[in-house]
Amino acid sequence: MHRPLRSLALLPCLLALCLAACHAPAPATPPPFELVVLGIAQDGGVPQLGCDQPCCSEARATGRTLGPACLGVIDHRHGKLLLVEATPAVERQVALLHQLAGTKPRGRQAVDGILLTHAHIGHYLGLAHFGREAAASRQLPVFAAPRLAQFLRREAPWRQLIALEQIAVVECALGAALEPLPGLTAVPLRVPHRDEFSETVAWRLTGPTRTVLFVPDVDRWDSEPGLLDRLLAGVDVAYVDGTFFDGSELPDRDLREIRHPFVTDTMARLQELAKARPGAVRFLHLNHTNPALRNPAVRARIAALGFAVAEEGERIGL
Ligand SMILES: [Zn+2]
Ligand SMILES: [Zn+2]
Repeated sequence: MHRPLRSLALLPCLLALCLAACHAPAPATPPPFELVVLGIAQDGGVPQLGCDQPCCSEARATGRTLGPACLGVIDHRHGKLLLVEATPAVERQVALLHQLAGTKPRGRQAVDGILLTHAHIGHYLGLAHFGREAAASRQLPVFAAPRLAQFLRREAPWRQLIALEQIAVVECALGAALEPLPGLTAVPLRVPHRDEFSETVAWRLTGPTRTVLFVPDVDRWDSEPGLLDRLLAGVDVAYVDGTFFDGSELPDRDLREIRHPFVTDTMARLQELAKARPGAVRFLHLNHTNPALRNPAVRARIAALGFAVAEEGERIGL
């Protein structure tokens, strides 16, 4: 659809306003829940093991590391904290969650619940830190879709966490709403992905004021009819799989092997949405090679189109 240039010229201002809203200090009457971003990288984080390219050697040299994609939810009314994913960087991410919440880490019950998307390393290995070698939590609710719940109950070392009652797996029916915190609704939505050990879900989180989608890992949008529309229905802000920008960051790989939607493809499909609501679609789960992590021209292109790369520490009232 044609749009007048005048509205395009306003885009940077609108985007700045939206981003300012995301980073704004809490208003006088804050929303009861705040969603915060605790990590934006793909499973391997940045730097990634074994990578000697500038993307990772510079991160090692400067200490500016990035943890795998992870969200937190702060319940301001009851002082409760929810983690969305338990990544290998869980200690640092939970510490950041407490810092953003203005609370102190509290021994065994570092958080009050964990939502998981699937059994790939960046998304659930952090559960090990709730076991006897580290925090040794007590009956920490871990919300998981049926195959993932079964995987955790059956496989070592996860089944030991359950046997020792350090975690309590809550099996979640696909598409059915639950309340991981009182007043916060969460719905696990099945998505196509490389499902060796578990199915994969996206989480849709709804508080009294907003609905946020979290879909860090998904196959290309055309792998299932209506997939993107189904996920975005009723969503105010979407945190979306941004693993690869356009594939050119992987010169040795056959593009047909890459199942993730490219950032460029997602931007093409959602261009009207991004024009109408700049900043509503935010990329995370970026591979260490993704130029959107460090190339100013690529970042400017994303921003000019009304999209954003999520940032650690950004927050949204729910
Ligand atoms: Zn992943
Ligand atoms: Zn995955």
